[in-house]
Amino acid sequence: MQNSDFFPKNPKTSESVLSAKKELSADEIFGMIHSVETLGALDGPGLRYVLFLQGCPFSCAYCHNPDTREFGSGYEISVAEQFSDILRYRKYLSGGVTISGGEPLAQPEFVTALLEKCRANHIHGAIDTSGGMPLKESERAIRAADLMLVDIKAFDRETARSICGVDTTRTWALLDFCEKLEKPVWIRHVLVPGKTIRVRDENNREISGREAFLMLNPILVAGIQRVREYSCVQKIELLPFHKLGTHKWSDLGIPFELADIDEPAEHMIAWCESLIEWIWRGESI
Ligand code: SF4
Repeated sequence: MQNSDFFPKNPKTSESVLSAKKELSADEIFGMIHSVETLGALDGPGLRYVLFLQGCPFSCAYCHNPDTREFGSGYEISVAEQFSDILRYRKYLSGGVTISGGEPLAQPEFVTALLEKCRANHIHGAIDTSGGMPLKESERAIRAADLMLVDIKAFDRETARSICGVDTTRTWALLDFCEKLEKPVWIRHVLVPGKTIRVRDENNREISGREAFLMLNPILVAGIQRVREYSCVQKIELLPFHKLGTHKWSDLGIPFELADIDEPAEHMIAWCESLIEWIWRGESI
């Protein structure tokens, strides 16, 4: 697949957004938007204006917003218009702005220009990304962000590919780039029983103790240890798989692949959280 296949076309010119030859003004750069949450508390520090861009080339089986995936739908807005709307809420935004999606780095020019405008106006800007887009086209947007929220879909490539269609080689390359820039990063990781965490032993019995859980989840342990080696990573947020968005799949007429998977038990989430705390404190497992 060519890099340009990952990116939408500019609705004005029908060219790939990567083809723009000259620097465009904030009135000339357009993004495709799914929706806005004006006071979000879950995507970065403080209260934030969260902008969900439309379009994502990936296919996470647990996607909470499958309606944001299709390119070509949503509504179009210029950076200038979008920034004016952000300013209407500025006094309530104790945190800043987060650009999420969909996959925001599929629209790198729009994200870069909007974040550069935020920075020039002393508004903190974050990108919430799968990390699966080509790094070269994402570099300017990453430089323009104050914080990167990076999903690591799975700590082994095969699982990531099978449940999300994401190449995590790119995610690690993005982390290497953030490390080089000393760009603050928050990692996010979805706990999906039977996919990203094992919750049953070889006899299909639910694992009942923390030690057994850790022994049966070496990929999770090694993955968190790997993340710990990055000094740019400030924290890891574990997101337990849930089925609250199931209705969106049926509305779209797409089968929800994970319908039969149970949400992870509270005590297993607690084991994963304590694992992170140990590793962060440098304690042995
Ligand atoms: S990367 Fe995000 S928006 Fe895209 S399919 Fe995965 S969860 Fe959904």
